[in-house]
Amino acid sequence: MRNAIIVGGGVAGLSAGIALSKARWDVVVLERAPRLEPIGAALSLWPNACAALKSLGVFPAVEAGASPISSMLLGTRDGGRILDRLIPEPALLSARSHLQHALQDSLPPGALRLGCEVLRARSGCVEIADGETMTGDLVVDAGGIGAISGACEEPRYAGYGGVLALSGPIEGSGFEGQAAEFWGWGERFGVFELPKGQRYWFYMRSQPAHSRMPNIDECAWAARGWPEQVCKAIAATPADALIPFAVHARKPPRSLLQNGILKVGDAAHAMEPNLGQGACQALEDAVALMHAASRNSAAEIGQAYEKARLDRVRMLVREAAQAGLGVHGPRAIQLLVRTALKVVPRALSEPRINKMQMLPEYRSRTEL
Ligand SMILES: Cc1cc2nc3c(=O)[nH]c(=O)nc-3n(C[C@H](O)[C@H](O)[C@H](O)COP(=O)(O)OP(=O)(O)OC[C@H]3O[C@@H](n4cnc5c(N)ncnc54)[C@H](O)[C@@H]3O)c2cc1C
Repeated sequence: MRNAIIVGGGVAGLSAGIALSKARWDVVVLERAPRLEPIGAALSLWPNACAALKSLGVFPAVEAGASPISSMLLGTRDGGRILDRLIPEPALLSARSHLQHALQDSLPPGALRLGCEVLRARSGCVEIADGETMTGDLVVDAGGIGAISGACEEPRYAGYGGVLALSGPIEGSGFEGQAAEFWGWGERFGVFELPKGQRYWFYMRSQPAHSRMPNIDECAWAARGWPEQVCKAIAATPADALIPFAVHARKPPRSLLQNGILKVGDAAHAMEPNLGQGACQALEDAVALMHAASRNSAAEIGQAYEKARLDRVRMLVREAAQAGLGVHGPRAIQLLVRTALKVVPRALSEPRINKMQMLPEYRSRTEL
């Protein structure tokens, strides 16, 4: 049986492990953390990600503990509408910990090794911090934005950051599956529904690198006059539940292979979070990898995977950066983007959004 070594046990590494084991490879996922701790709070899993989870056989487990997203709203801070749409296929909002556990449970027993830091990786071989050297037919870098396989350029600070959190339970009716984001000038809030009356929310604002992040009182202050669901979510959140983040991203990748190592997830295509597609793309990587590994020799997998994925991830990294301009760009650009989003007819905007949110057919794309 062919064997693969996967560096990193985030969404990308766990799903790559499932994909390769479904393609009848022996897999080991090496994660440096002693426990699987989710980075962040929750993730929107758009139709492409849900279709990918179905291909990997994990969708029912994820769906069981997530909330459906049936529509999205992009509004202004005073409640005006910029864009809204119904989501035509299943989409979910899942706590990160729930998604990670569902993925972990779908790996073959013993495939995940925790507390295992990889110091060096090259084609067919990795060196672990305890001195062990492991060899494999394939090495996959799923180590996130600080990827061990290296990249041509350092990640770039995108000019904004903020905090995100899971609230406590909120009484009353929910949003009937609406995922909402509200834009001010240089700042925005997002609020999403989770099971049992919980909310996932974030606050992002333009700010210089290394700025101090807002605490809960400052978030509540910033949210005065914004839609009620924002204020309610903040009011139901304990002060120590805030998770600060600063957005970093890379330029569109020129390759998904480096020094004989295949890259997935943020290691391959770290993008700004404006489309909510980073983890969704990691799940798509896994589906492409599953088909590439099922039908090609070990020497050809990288080529087949890159052929299937490179153009699409380059498009998404570009689109994700552009999508941030409506809030974090120069004021004239913010105005221009909002006007464009409002006036472009659905007949033109829908195919573009669908292209991003639909899973391509990777079986034929991985044919060499
Ligand atoms: C504010 C914000 C909101 C977001 N919202 C969404 C969203 O709604 N939907 C969505 O799809 N995406 C979203 N994203 C993007 C998403 O979080 C990432 O794209 C995704 O988590 C990347 O997963 P990953 O597995 O590639 O990397 P990571 O999650 O960074 O995992 C990498 C793992 O590798 C391990 N590792 C690294 N180096 C080594 C080593 N040398 N040895 C062993 N282990 C190692 C790390 O410990 C870590 O566990 C968001 C991002 C941000 C910042």
